Amino acid sequence: MSRPKKKVYIKTFGCQMNVADSEQMAQVLAPDFVPTDEPAEADLYLVNTCAIRKKSEQKVRSLLGSLKALKRRRPHLILGVGGCVAQQEGERLLAAIPHLDLVFGTHGIYRLPELVRRASQERQLDVDLSAGFPETPPRRWPSGAAQTLVTIMQGCDNYCSFCVVPYVRGREHSRPPAEIVAEVQNFLAAGGKEVTLLGQNVNSYGRGLDEPVTFPQLLQRLAELPGLARLRFATSHPKDLSDELIGLFTELKPLCEHLHLPVQSGSNRILSAMNRSYTREHYLAKIEKLRHTSPGISLSTDIIVGFPGETEADFQDTLHLVKKVSFHQAYCFKYSPRPQTRAADLPDQLPEEVKAERLARLLDLQNDLTLAAHRRLVGQIREVLVEGESKRSKEELSGRLRTNQVVNFSGPQELVGELVHVEITEANPHSLKARWAAEPSARSRRPVVGGTPRRLSC
Ligand code: SF4
Repeated sequence: MSRPKKKVYIKTFGCQMNVADSEQMAQVLAPDFVPTDEPAEADLYLVNTCAIRKKSEQKVRSLLGSLKALKRRRPHLILGVGGCVAQQEGERLLAAIPHLDLVFGTHGIYRLPELVRRASQERQLDVDLSAGFPETPPRRWPSGAAQTLVTIMQGCDNYCSFCVVPYVRGREHSRPPAEIVAEVQNFLAAGGKEVTLLGQNVNSYGRGLDEPVTFPQLLQRLAELPGLARLRFATSHPKDLSDELIGLFTELKPLCEHLHLPVQSGSNRILSAMNRSYTREHYLAKIEKLRHTSPGISLSTDIIVGFPGETEADFQDTLHLVKKVSFHQAYCFKYSPRPQTRAADLPDQLPEEVKAERLARLLDLQNDLTLAAHRRLVGQIREVLVEGESKRSKEELSGRLRTNQVVNFSGPQELVGELVHVEITEANPHSLKARWAAEPSARSRRPVVGGTPRRLSC
């Protein structure tokens, strides 16, 4: 008789890349551990960390401190920390947190089973970035999974002056295209519908591969796979966004009409200090091409306010750019100095109050733009991929449009994982309300955007 498996709880901080990494952790541990949502019953507790901002790092340290009590109640519990903070802090974490058993870096995921076995005997540290990435083991998906994240590359060679990623995730490394295509095929064979390709800068995918394949070519290969209804990708660097890639938004039916294109600042002086390798004019020209090619495309971005030396005039440039582009969504943050990065040593670091006040003004503007974009959708019939219960109410389902907005509506549970049409009925600041198009008033109208067949412009 086989032994019952132990339980692993994984707490994930940060971005989609970390969510994908946590999934990989669960997969490589699957022969010995089953995932649990209940930390109090875990035999292995892993914290997958993010070092992009000081605040997320502080949250990790505070969580680790609070886990001392759990470790006391469950002495056999193995407590491990992975991801970017683990990579950055390494031995210092072990020294600072006596109840920690394991620290593994961003390249240590596939060595986890062995590390966990050894950690039950003595404390383990694995932050080696030099070994590169082994071939990714085959993945499995829970039955009914409609969406998945597929990591196509790791690391980054861009060295933006504020960013810790090149130091904690290493140099850029692309996965072979055949491995990616096989993974997506397996997902589709299991009934999947939507794939999001992940990398720090997917536009530069392919550099250094034995088989020379560009990112647009990879998208073309994937878009041809039968059964793929939706294809997304993140994140893009504006300097590498080619006309060829922009053209694919109208050529490839599964490619969703949404692009996340981080601008970071609207001031050329600050963009140069950030080492972003483009100007606001270059960025705006890309936006114009995108909107010309794919008029219905929705655009989201990342913005940092209060970078060292940012003046009120620089900040006004950012506000003007945000208004001009009219982003559907923007992830806005106060600059936070990160260890090893060049910007951390720049003079003219701004006081917290100035950063906070600018962030508040930017958020006010963006909230208005998001709500206005949501209001323009009211009355339209759109395709939604139903993801599950709404966060707000168990009575409602929640999903996303191809253009990436969250939509909540009433409908039967059987719709989870399905592509359905809804009529947008109400615009809220962070989401939309809709009526399921199986209801007569919505069914009688022709789809405006999305769906099968369709093509307009995630
Ligand atoms: S492109 Fe810049 S911001 Fe993005 S991961 Fe690379 S260094 Fe960081």
